[in-house]
Amino acid sequence: MEPPRGILFGTNGVRFIPGVNADPGFVMRLSECIGTYFAEGDILVGRDGRFWGETLLYAVTSGLMSSGRNVAEAGLVPTPALQYATKSLGYRGGVMVTASHNPPEYNGVKVFGSDGVEINRLDEQRVEKVFREGSVTRANWRDVGTSRSEPSVVRTYLQGILSKVNTKLISARKFSIVMDLGNGAQAVAAPYLLDGLGCKVITLNATIDGAFPARGPEPTPGTLGDLSAAVRAAGADLGVGYDGDGDRAIFCDEKGTVYWGDQSGSLLADYVLEKKPGGTVVTPINSSQVVELVAARRRGKVIRTRVGTGDVSRTILDRGAAFGFEENGGSIYPDHIPVRDGAMATALMLECLAARGLPFSKVMGNTLPLFFMTKTKVQVQPEKVKEIMRKVERQADGRIEKVDGIKTWVDDKSWVLVRPSGTEPIIRIFAEAETQEKADSLLRSRVKLVKSG
Ligand code: MG
Repeated sequence: MEPPRGILFGTNGVRFIPGVNADPGFVMRLSECIGTYFAEGDILVGRDGRFWGETLLYAVTSGLMSSGRNVAEAGLVPTPALQYATKSLGYRGGVMVTASHNPPEYNGVKVFGSDGVEINRLDEQRVEKVFREGSVTRANWRDVGTSRSEPSVVRTYLQGILSKVNTKLISARKFSIVMDLGNGAQAVAAPYLLDGLGCKVITLNATIDGAFPARGPEPTPGTLGDLSAAVRAAGADLGVGYDGDGDRAIFCDEKGTVYWGDQSGSLLADYVLEKKPGGTVVTPINSSQVVELVAARRRGKVIRTRVGTGDVSRTILDRGAAFGFEENGGSIYPDHIPVRDGAMATALMLECLAARGLPFSKVMGNTLPLFFMTKTKVQVQPEKVKEIMRKVERQADGRIEKVDGIKTWVDDKSWVLVRPSGTEPIIRIFAEAETQEKADSLLRSRVKLVKSG
């Protein structure tokens, strides 16, 4: 059983529903191809807490060993922990069994190079070619790979993060923080990080569970109501919620207001640029314009990319950027590792709040100009997408940007973006303006246009 032939890798590794369109046999064959692609060296493997994770990790190990690779097994760890350890412990590559924030029935496989960053599209095509052609390198009877356990992944990861922040400054504030671990993989790492930063930690949903029974695997202002209530009830300084594999973090201030990732990301960008004036920040086309205004004050530069964490990571590497973020809560601090990391973002946020010495809501209010954003998605027939996008472009009533989808600036401070999803038959629409009414009305006009097919 395997996903339809053709492209295996989507925008975020290989994704499938085990038992429905993929089985361990498929994952083993895929992993033989990944081992063939790596050709040499030892590979670090791990999984998040999803159902099938353990079974599929055996399949990954088996496939890699069959192609002659030695495997080190990290067990259940957050994705960024595996990425950081792949790089810092000197592995040739890493393979993670995860479906990130997808619904519980999904699982998947992500492949990282020796720098811990997801392999690029060209390398994914190399793996796909081996899979399509069946040109797998198989070890002969005596040089099959070996496997062993690698118990130091989480420790290495947490030490790495602690080495990148001012632990004295943070500890002195004695922050109290509520963490909504969302039944996900950060449960094995993030709470221990905060112990090391002198914080008083209250955890919610800290039991790892592949059904994600508490609030699902995706943290958003809409799914973090319990976090917001717990922060207020406990009188905590802040709250944070992670996604299923721990690479995304959504923050909540002491009043219980939950921010989208481009708001908290712009705050972190401001803090990083204060330390590195004139630095570059990378973010996709759908993030708030707030970041340009914040960066300008620090003489910084903003580069906009297509939507997708891979594009942000690679642009950060190419341009030597200081920081990157996504509206979904992905934050990338390349001083640590140029991939998104929920625990690193948390430590950096604590350092930022400690340095400012004010409540979270005040720091937000002092730093970010006020804009209002709204977003939605519209189900469409896949064959209609191109025609709809042509119509959106024809009827655009302002300056257009075509980095990803069609972004129209109707005036200096208001824009609307219409963008087909890369993975589902939906069109996403985002609008931002100086008032909520204007943002809503821009959104409505585009929803109408898209629905009129
Ligand atoms: Mg994730």
